[in-house]
Amino acid sequence: MEISLLNKLKYYNFSKEEIADCADDIKYHNLLSLCVVSIVNAVLILLLSFYPKYHEAGRVFHYLMSGAELALFFISFAAYKKKNIHGPFFKFIFFALFWTLVFFCLFVYKAGRSPFSIRFLLVFLSFQIVFVTEIITSVAMNVGVIVLFFITNKYFPNTAENNIFASSIFDIFNIALAAVVYMILNLYTAHVIIKGIITSNSLERERNRFLDESIHDQLTGLNNRRSFEQSVDFYTSVCRHVHQTVCVVMMDVDFFKNYNDFYGHTKGDIVLQAIGTALKELAEEDSVYVARVGGEEFLVLWTENRVIEAERIVLKLRQKIIGLNIPHEKSSVAPYVTASFGMYFMRGGSMDTREELYNNADIALYKAKAAGRNCVILLDSADKSYRHVELRPPENLVRH
Ligand code: GH3
Ligand code: MG
Ligand code: MG
Repeated sequence: MEISLLNKLKYYNFSKEEIADCADDIKYHNLLSLCVVSIVNAVLILLLSFYPKYHEAGRVFHYLMSGAELALFFISFAAYKKKNIHGPFFKFIFFALFWTLVFFCLFVYKAGRSPFSIRFLLVFLSFQIVFVTEIITSVAMNVGVIVLFFITNKYFPNTAENNIFASSIFDIFNIALAAVVYMILNLYTAHVIIKGIITSNSLERERNRFLDESIHDQLTGLNNRRSFEQSVDFYTSVCRHVHQTVCVVMMDVDFFKNYNDFYGHTKGDIVLQAIGTALKELAEEDSVYVARVGGEEFLVLWTENRVIEAERIVLKLRQKIIGLNIPHEKSSVAPYVTASFGMYFMRGGSMDTREELYNNADIALYKAKAAGRNCVILLDSADKSYRHVELRPPENLVRH
C-alpha cells in the first residue's frame, strides 16, 4: 500500500530523492510506533506470565505501559507535526478530545479505576489525536472500542480472583490488537502524510512559480521592473547608511524600432534574448544585479566605490553587446546591434530616492543618445558632472 502511495508521488513530479525521503520518514514513523507498542507489550506479558505472584508488580507495569503509550503519543504527535498537516489535525483534535472525555466517563463508571480502563483510555486518546482525521474512521473506532470494552468486562471482570488470568488473556489480545490496529493506522497515517505532502508541495510549487513569474521577465528570463523596484531600496539604503557608492547603468538598444521594422518583431525578440543572455553572464561574472525595465531598456545595479572598476564593468557590457555581432543594416551607428549607456554614480551617503536614482541614470542615457549612441555617459553625484566613459590608459595603450 505504501509503495503504491509513494508511486503516486511520481505523478506530481517529485524527484527520486524526495520520494525516498518521504518513504524513509514513513518507515521511521511506522517502525517507531510498532517497536514501542510491541516492546512494551512483550515486557509486560513476560512479567505477568513468568511471575504471576507479583501481581502488584504487574499492576505497576500496566501503569508503565500506559506511560509508554503516552510517550508514543508524543512521538507520533511530533512526527505528525513535522509534516505540517495542520488543517485536519486541528479540526479533529477537538473532536477527539470531546469523545475521549465521553468514553473516559464511561470507562470509569464501568470498570472503576482499573489499569485496563486507564490503558484503554490512553491508547484510545493517542490513536484518536494522532491518526484520526476523518469522522467516519473515528466513529468506527469508537464503536470498536466500546464493543471490545464490554466484551472484556463481561468475560474477564475486574475481580481479585481472576485479575491475573484476565490480565494475561487481555494482554495477548492487546498485543494482537495493538499490532493490527497500529499497522492499519500507520498505513493510514502514511496515506495522510503523503496526501499532505502532495497538497502542500503542489501549493508551494504553484506559489513559487507564481512568485518567480511575477518578478521575472518572460522573454529574457531576467528580473523585471517589479523586481527592480523591490531590490532598489536595498541599494539606496546601503548607499545612505553604509556609505557605499551605488552604480546604476541604464542601457537602451540603439535604433531598435528600425530593427523591428526591417527584420520583423520575431527577430527583434531573439535579439532581446541574446542581450538578456549577455546580461546574465555579466551578472554571474561581476556579481551585479540586472533587469529588463522596459521594451529594449535594461538596467544594471551594483555597489562599487572605485570609479575605475565601475567603468570597467560598463565598458565590458558595451563590448559584450558589440561582441554579439548581430547585423543591423538600419542602424546609423554601426552595421551591428549596439546600445547606449547612462551610468549614475551615486556616492556613499547620498540621500537620493529610488526615483532620483532611476531618473539620473535615464538622463545620462538620454545624453548618451544625444552624443551619438553606442557610448557611455557617466553622471557623478559628487559634482553633478557628465562625461564620456572610455577605455583609459594603460588599456588604451595595450598593443596586440
Ligand atoms: P533609440 O536609438 O533612440 O533608442 O531608438 P529606438 O528605435 O531603439 O527607440 P524607440 O523607443 O523609438 O523604439 C523602441 C522599440 O523597441 C519599439 C518597439 O517596437 C521595440 N520593442 C519594445 N519591446 C519589444 C519587445 O518585447 N520585442 C520586440 N521585438 N521589440 C520591442
Ligand atoms: Mg527605449
Ligand atoms: Mg532604443
